[in-house]
Amino acid sequence: MRKLLLVGAAITALAVNITAQQLSLDAMIDRDIAAWLTTYRNLHTTPELSHREEKTSAFVAGELRKLGFTVTERIGKFQNAQWNGYGVVAVMKNGPGPTVLVRTELDALPVEEKTGLAYASLVKTKNDAGVEVSVMHACGHDMHMTSFLGTAKMLTELKSRWSGTLIMLGQPAEETGDGANAMLRDNLYTNFPKPDFAIALHDKPELETGKVGYTPGYAMASATSIDIKIRGVGGHGSAPETTKDPIVVAAQVVMALQTIVSRENSPLDPAVVTVGSIHGGTRYNIIPDEVNLQLTVRTYKEDVRKRILASIERIVKGVAMTAGIPEDRAPVVKVSEGTGSTYNDPQLIERLVGVFTRALGEENFMKMPPMMASEDFGYFSMDQKIPATIFWLGASDPAKVKASRESGVALPGLHSALFAPVPEPTLRTGVKAMTSAVLDLMKK
Ligand SMILES: [Zn+2]
Ligand SMILES: [Zn+2]
Repeated sequence: MRKLLLVGAAITALAVNITAQQLSLDAMIDRDIAAWLTTYRNLHTTPELSHREEKTSAFVAGELRKLGFTVTERIGKFQNAQWNGYGVVAVMKNGPGPTVLVRTELDALPVEEKTGLAYASLVKTKNDAGVEVSVMHACGHDMHMTSFLGTAKMLTELKSRWSGTLIMLGQPAEETGDGANAMLRDNLYTNFPKPDFAIALHDKPELETGKVGYTPGYAMASATSIDIKIRGVGGHGSAPETTKDPIVVAAQVVMALQTIVSRENSPLDPAVVTVGSIHGGTRYNIIPDEVNLQLTVRTYKEDVRKRILASIERIVKGVAMTAGIPEDRAPVVKVSEGTGSTYNDPQLIERLVGVFTRALGEENFMKMPPMMASEDFGYFSMDQKIPATIFWLGASDPAKVKASRESGVALPGLHSALFAPVPEPTLRTGVKAMTSAVLDLMKK
């Protein structure tokens, strides 16, 4: 009996002496998961719109500072000088070796949450137009931030296992596509170490929680917004012969634009031209002076994007000319700052395939098809000069994913008011995957 007690005491003493480095990553995650779930729920209930991530960025910066990072806040120069850059850069130098950048996004969306969860967001705010909108982390950036902070904590405790410079980067305004560029424009890569690798993760509702997905090469498209103003000559609806009807021209333009992808583009180069908005006229019997269209163009390759933009301009002007619209009323085509495509460096992916297979098991790691949605993470690669990759973090209940695959009815996707990732297993996998990836890229 006495001997047993002594053995018991020795085991307790030993347990106390075990440092974090001797605990497995899983045991460290077990130890911290409750705290991370609290962080996740707090972030979920306090979302902020793009360009206004004041409190979120301050929270992320504060947590990283507590972990011993050198933290700089308010990084980012937007084209609209009224917007503050709420970017956060946290640097930890730990001997010689590569510089690795891990990125999270900070912003949320103008969506009214309808998940019915106990921690659903009730936040309302005024948008830039002064209209009251609800705000929700409907893209899972709260999950990304929590995984990111958990990863930072794990890597701080596991410092003896890596060497190099770690940069934890909180990016504002991902949803508006201008946050990454705003940080780069604010001399991100000259004021701070330039990374040798950049990595990020994003929730994936179509993938089971506990799993991670990857897409080598082009994974997400570039997105370009285009405003078209078709100007005509207005008049009475009963006297079309006295007018140049911009509504009919707009209708022809919409149809003619469909030939860009179907007839001018190689089927081997994915591309989308969508007219998402068309507005013209005020009532039954007035032919208006103008019609306004808003388009989005998606491509992987930059030369394809440029060619499509030129085609749009040519078609719009050509249709207007055919309709006899005078030269001084020619359509106006305005191309806005867009988002570049996301290219996952195949060599870096190959390396991470090995890491994730070991960390998560082969059955929890899978290749996924590319998509035409967009993300501005690709900018951190400086036109693919810096190996960068984003990987997909499964976020949905496996039973629901199975039912959705069988029925063909999609689960609530990103940006949906019903998007509700399963917090605990998703967080565990996010931290484990990201920590394992960084440990491998910076291993001693
Ligand atoms: Zn989003
Ligand atoms: Zn997102």
